[in-house]
Amino acid sequence: MSESPLLMIPGPVEVSPAVAAAMASPPPSHLAPELVEAFGSALENMRRVWRAAADDQPFVLAGGGTAAMEMAAANLVSEGDRVLVVGTGYFSDRMAIILGRYGAQVLAVEAPVGDAPDGERVRQALGLYGDVRVLFATHVDTSTGVRIDPAPLARLARERGILSVFDGVCATGGETFEMAEWGADVYLSASQKALSLPAGLALQVVSRRALEGRRRRAGAPPLYFDWEVWRSIMEAYEERRGRYFSTPATNLVLALDVGLREILEEGIEERVAKHQRASVALRAGWRELGLAPVPVRPDLAAHTLSALNLPEGVDKSLVAAIGRLGVSVAGGLHPEIADRYFRVGHMGYSVTRPDWLARVVETVGEALVEKGVEVDPQAARRAVEGLFP
Ligand SMILES: *Cc1c(COP(=O)(O)O)cnc(C)c1O
Repeated sequence: MSESPLLMIPGPVEVSPAVAAAMASPPPSHLAPELVEAFGSALENMRRVWRAAADDQPFVLAGGGTAAMEMAAANLVSEGDRVLVVGTGYFSDRMAIILGRYGAQVLAVEAPVGDAPDGERVRQALGLYGDVRVLFATHVDTSTGVRIDPAPLARLARERGILSVFDGVCATGGETFEMAEWGADVYLSASQKALSLPAGLALQVVSRRALEGRRRRAGAPPLYFDWEVWRSIMEAYEERRGRYFSTPATNLVLALDVGLREILEEGIEERVAKHQRASVALRAGWRELGLAPVPVRPDLAAHTLSALNLPEGVDKSLVAAIGRLGVSVAGGLHPEIADRYFRVGHMGYSVTRPDWLARVVETVGEALVEKGVEVDPQAARRAVEGLFP
């Protein structure tokens, strides 16, 4: 078997040896004592990683991040409801599409690619439209590497009696999120990004207020996504009783328990701080290679991935060239600029590996040299190592 490339795309990402071991264990029954214990402890630990209140409800379902988005929409929105989407790129657009399918009247506040609408514009939009039921925003839009500050939006929603939903798929575990302190209502995520697990789990923590919101929805949501159906299952596991509705992804639940424990052993604040230090070091490396970020201001740049404009004269074949050198990075995703930039994920377990971060920058530099760009990959490597030893 040839050595697999270092996986530095914005999800799935590299996982720790202990997480990989949990995935490789013989598949347990959904009622096995070991699984019930892991499920219960994972639910408790989700509240800690999400910085949620004791009465916020965690949900763990087989599915991707899109399933988590769908679940939030399905429980809160029905025909004719007005909702506001904060536009940041491909994933906020996807949220709007999902909401449209539930019959919502979707109002959007948009910004140019690489930028995000500020809190004041969202406040004005809410004032203008009136009667908005739910505010949706993407914490890190993986298509552009743009990160918003959810705090003022969550507070604004609270002030106005609106529910707030944040897509943390590319952020949870790698960016600051204070669910309880900010009064956010739903923080949804998936396993394969900053939480550093294999793909396959849709995750979210939901406030009491949002669970009430589900009851005010006209009609019941699709069965598989119904918070009310799943809530009793989650409560049972948290009380260390197995209970069946639809078979959980048992190995992934074992991996979730291991992965969340690892984050909490380090401390969520320390894990987030590590993402911040790693991204600052990488930015120095990218600067050394002459690569400019897609986010238009440094305060908008995510700590979990870099979206980088391709230099003059270099096309998207750079991504494959980097791959041939043993590091897997990703192409563009935002349709407006898809062929003009590329993306590097640096989240989860990889930020505990300074050697990997230095290698990524050096490898991107080598691929640029192959393409005829005059840069110094070694200098870029040293720039990263100097800041993230
Ligand atoms: C990856 C991603 C999603 C979609 O997750 P899937 O598991 O691919 O369905 C949604 N939102 C954001 C911000 C993402 O990064």
